[in-house]
Formats: sequence, structure tokens, C-alpha cells
Amino acid sequence: MKRFVALIAIALISLSFIPCGAHALSEQREIYLTFDDGPSRQYTPAILDVLKAHGVKATFFVVGKNVGTCGDIMRRMRREGHTIGAHCHEHVYARIYKSPQSFKADLLKCIDAIQRALPGYKVRHYRFPGGSFTVSERYIRIVREMGLEIVDWNCVNGDTEIRDASEQEIMSAVISTSRGKRKAVVLMHDNKRITADTLDAIIKHFKDKGYIFRKFT
Ligand SMILES: [Zn+2]
Repeated sequence: MKRFVALIAIALISLSFIPCGAHALSEQREIYLTFDDGPSRQYTPAILDVLKAHGVKATFFVVGKNVGTCGDIMRRMRREGHTIGAHCHEHVYARIYKSPQSFKADLLKCIDAIQRALPGYKVRHYRFPGGSFTVSERYIRIVREMGLEIVDWNCVNGDTEIRDASEQEIMSAVISTSRGKRKAVVLMHDNKRITADTLDAIIKHFKDKGYIFRKFT
């Protein structure tokens, strides 16, 4: 009995020593930074610099047409440990979603461009232009048959939703749309100057709040 009481006491003491920063595992909040529409020679390098400075890994959903002229940036993304997913080859909705055939042809071209830039890289993730929220089941089936995981978002920084967004508007968009989410997947665009300019502040904000940064794997 004495031993039992001692064990309970030890358990209680050790419980009280759980560091306060380490919330119960179930409360741990995660954030996934995702960047669409690049690579951009103008802004992606600056975004990679910020990610590197913070030791944060992100997920880039690239446009095949941009990949061809940004081989060095693609190699840097890979070297620095980010995940690269497919988005589309040419970002023209009318052409992509004209038919399941044109959709598939565009996606295959995008994957081909990634693999030319990064031989041996296996593309596992895909983001629908506009998200999967409204696309028909036929398109979803095509993506799944290709063995790709569909990645949407539940949070935005407003870099495309708000016209000429200010730094303040970007911060409040990302803070308000991520509120209350245990797993926040943030949609951003690495071809936007405002995103490159505010990324440091965004990362600092979520680090201060105790979020863990993750990439899709
Ligand atoms: Zn896009």
C-alpha cells in the first residue's frame, strides 16, 4: 500500500513538472504554410530566405510553365527541404476545366515539368486551381487515380482575395481565418510581393502562439 501511495505521489509530482509550454498533445496546434502559383523569380527567393531564417518547411504548389524557367529555384526548394506539389501547367481556368481530358493533360504537363527540373522527385501532392471545393467528382477521381493527395486550405493570408492588400490587412486575414483551428492550412501565393514582405511577421506571430510548423509529406 505504501508503495502504491508513493507511486501515486511520484505520478502527481511528475505531472506538475510538465513544462507549461508543452500543452497536452491534443491541444497542439499546427500550421501548414502553402504557396501557390510560383515559382516566381521575383519573390520566391525572398520567401525561401525567410523560411530558412526561421527553420520552417513549407509546401509549394507550382505552375509547370514557371518551373521551366526557374530550375535553380526548384532545386533550392528541394535542397532546403520543402515539399513541392503540382498545381497546374498553365493557370487558365477555362482551359484547365474545359473537360476531364484537358484537365488531365494540363496536370500531366505540370508533373512532367517538375520532374524535368528535379529528376527523381516524386510528386505526391496536388492543389486544384480554385480548390477542390467546387470541382466535380470526375476531376477528383482523375487526381486520385494518379496517386496524388489533394490538398485544400482552411485559412488565407488574403494576398489574392484582398485587392492591393496592406501588411495590416494580410496579418488580420491570416489571424482571423486561422482562429480556433487546431490544424491551419494557409493559402498564400509566392508570386505576390506582399506575401514575401509579411511572411516574417506571420511566422513570428504563429511561433509566439506556440504553433508547430509542418509541411505536407
Ligand atoms: Zn493558383
